Amino acid sequence: MTAILGTEKRGNFVRSTLRKFGRRALDMAFPPLCSACRTPIAEAHNLCATCWNRISFLSDPLCAVCGFPFDFPAGPEVLCGSCQQRMPAFDKARSLMRYDEASRDPILALKCADRLDLVAAFARWMQRPGVELLAEADLIVPVPLHRSRLWQRRFNQSALLAQELGRLTGKPVECLALRRSRATRSQGEMPSAGARRRNVEGAFRVDGTRAALLRNKGILLIDDVFTTGSTIEASAKALKRAGARCVLVLTLARVVRPQRIPI
Ligand SMILES: [Zn+2]
Ligand SMILES: [Zn+2]
Repeated sequence: MTAILGTEKRGNFVRSTLRKFGRRALDMAFPPLCSACRTPIAEAHNLCATCWNRISFLSDPLCAVCGFPFDFPAGPEVLCGSCQQRMPAFDKARSLMRYDEASRDPILALKCADRLDLVAAFARWMQRPGVELLAEADLIVPVPLHRSRLWQRRFNQSALLAQELGRLTGKPVECLALRRSRATRSQGEMPSAGARRRNVEGAFRVDGTRAALLRNKGILLIDDVFTTGSTIEASAKALKRAGARCVLVLTLARVVRPQRIPI
């Protein structure tokens, strides 16, 4: 028995040593690179210290509903000017970082280049601003791309983030729950917030075969960038119409424009 165990232990030791040696040899040949600027770093799926310091991570004080960052200390229930004027269709939104010069390159790399290594890093970091949302959600649903754009890009980055968040947290993910019922022009081409809203209004619907999955459920909607919130708003409306109990939103980044404060 001892001899068998001994052999087994030796076997494990040899295997783990080989694995460690193999990994070290691989790291020497292909060192892990910073997810943003591609300089060599110690640990894979991470940022180098320079890139880490340039990124503006969003944290309190934030609007209690949409997550707009305040420059001044605010209580836990304080709303931004835009939410005071009109409450959004979603219940709460949070983002990992500000969309700016520092975060734009890694986000574009995820969207347009085949940089799928970024998915693991981003999803891991998104758990922090999303901790309460993830705890409250029953189901994770990504904002979908229309078939034509999916064909051009071959993958939907929001669906990949949703799947990775599901894997990390054990929450179920339903990538096909929400559909684009028509192709919309890119939101980036729209000249104003009103045009963005009209461009996506009614563009989303819940897939009929999956509607029962959403009824009375807390849905966590995942998208890459919260710009004016039009896409998120149109998606949240479709989910609420299908009977979702609440719609929580977690995005990788958020465009922060100055708001007019209602008097
Ligand atoms: Zn870097
Ligand atoms: Zn707000």
